[in-house]
Amino acid sequence: MSDLTKLTLKGAIDGLKAKSFSAVEVAKAHLDAIAAANPAINAYIQTTPDQALAMAKASDERIAKGEAGPLEGAAIGIKDLFCTKGVQSAAASNILRGFKPPYESTVTSQLWRDGAVMLGKLNMDEFAMGSSNESSAFGPVVNPWRAKDSSQNLTPGGSSGGSAAAVAADLCLAATATDTGGSIRQPAAFTGTVGIKPTYGRCSRFGIVAFASSLDQAGPIGKTVEDTALMLRSMSGHDPKDSTSLPVEVPDFAAFVGKSVKGLKIGVPGDYRIEGMPEEIARLWDQGIEWLKAAGCEIKSIRLPHTKYALPAYYIIAPAEASSNLARYDGMRFGLREEGGNLTEVYENTRAKGFGPEVKRRILIGTYVLSAGYYDAYYLKALKVRRRIADDFEAAFKEVDAILTPTAPSAAFPLGQRNDDPIAMYLNDVFTVTTNLAGLPGLSLPAGTSQTGLPLGLQLIGKPLDEGTLFSLAGAMEQAAGVSAKPAKWW
Ligand code: GLN
Repeated sequence: MSDLTKLTLKGAIDGLKAKSFSAVEVAKAHLDAIAAANPAINAYIQTTPDQALAMAKASDERIAKGEAGPLEGAAIGIKDLFCTKGVQSAAASNILRGFKPPYESTVTSQLWRDGAVMLGKLNMDEFAMGSSNESSAFGPVVNPWRAKDSSQNLTPGGSSGGSAAAVAADLCLAATATDTGGSIRQPAAFTGTVGIKPTYGRCSRFGIVAFASSLDQAGPIGKTVEDTALMLRSMSGHDPKDSTSLPVEVPDFAAFVGKSVKGLKIGVPGDYRIEGMPEEIARLWDQGIEWLKAAGCEIKSIRLPHTKYALPAYYIIAPAEASSNLARYDGMRFGLREEGGNLTEVYENTRAKGFGPEVKRRILIGTYVLSAGYYDAYYLKALKVRRRIADDFEAAFKEVDAILTPTAPSAAFPLGQRNDDPIAMYLNDVFTVTTNLAGLPGLSLPAGTSQTGLPLGLQLIGKPLDEGTLFSLAGAMEQAAGVSAKPAKWW
């Protein structure tokens, strides 16, 4: 049998159904690949071989009985932000090290319901705060891609860097991820993978460790557009346990891949042509426009005039919500506890020891912008900007069906390069935070390579609940781009 880790999710599901190989073989092939690669790439915080093999065996039995679910036997990785029953779910933080939730997140329980097999928990930025995976308490993830003629280690992006790196290096067939300001799309762009953040409310947030609740959304990272469509269908759906989850039907997203996009109107926002945008990103964007034109789309220039305020607004709203959400880590209920002379000291010692520097920075910013006297000047103002940004999109979507932009302002950068300058790190999210602020779906797909041979991504933004159109457009662009390059194996 050829290498089962090289399969797409779709290829694996079809092969399993046809009994060309077994789910146990698929799981074992991936566990072996992880064991060989993880010392170098660090994509997994832990593997769960016992679960993986037991789940795979159960899948093989269901396949034998003709009772296969839509993802039956598919070996996937789970971002450490998702609670998995009895399996450490630490959000890559020391404060939750050793925390084994007594329950399962809704998204993961739906994946298991549909037959998927858990390989382990994927590394990420601590509490999903970061764009490079370097804030993880479990060490940074290393991008499987390297620049031409270089052995320098690059970031896979963040915060879902473990998910993206694992998919790119064939250490799982697909992975779950989350996106509060770009954490699915930017790592996908940096690793040559596909990622979609669906409409806010498409996936339940129940059992996902909260960062900024009004922005957080789960989604998949996969090797192809079709693979992410298959994953998203299982991950989506109304959940009474999350009051912001939407009571709407879940379409068969994969059926949209391959559909004609002729006649669709695509908006190109001049406001995203930021100052200092590298030439290769501008060229990639123009190339994407040409592909869509060739597929029969009509290209329209649009305005999203409040874009320049999105990043500052995001970096007020997200830390504000984070400071509130993270108040629960006090050493009393779960995770780390550091003793002290009195209650306040226990709190202080636990939080001082348990949180890393980026998380502390967010808590400080968030507490500051919510404090009496500054609330109106910062937090309330940011909420008003957020409304304007949503209004911009609403006006644009009266004229167009979807919007095309770059995903990130650069290719993957070296680990360590932007560590001492938080603002430089925050600038990574300039094209992605707008959709979180407006609650819209955004998809990143590999569209080309940089001068140094690194993957670059383009982003498609859609109307609320119109992920289907994004899958059709992304499918057309994927065909036109013909990018199937994988990183050269150095690990
Ligand atoms: N990079 C952004 C941040 O640090 C987004 C993170 C995310 O989407 N979880 O907040």
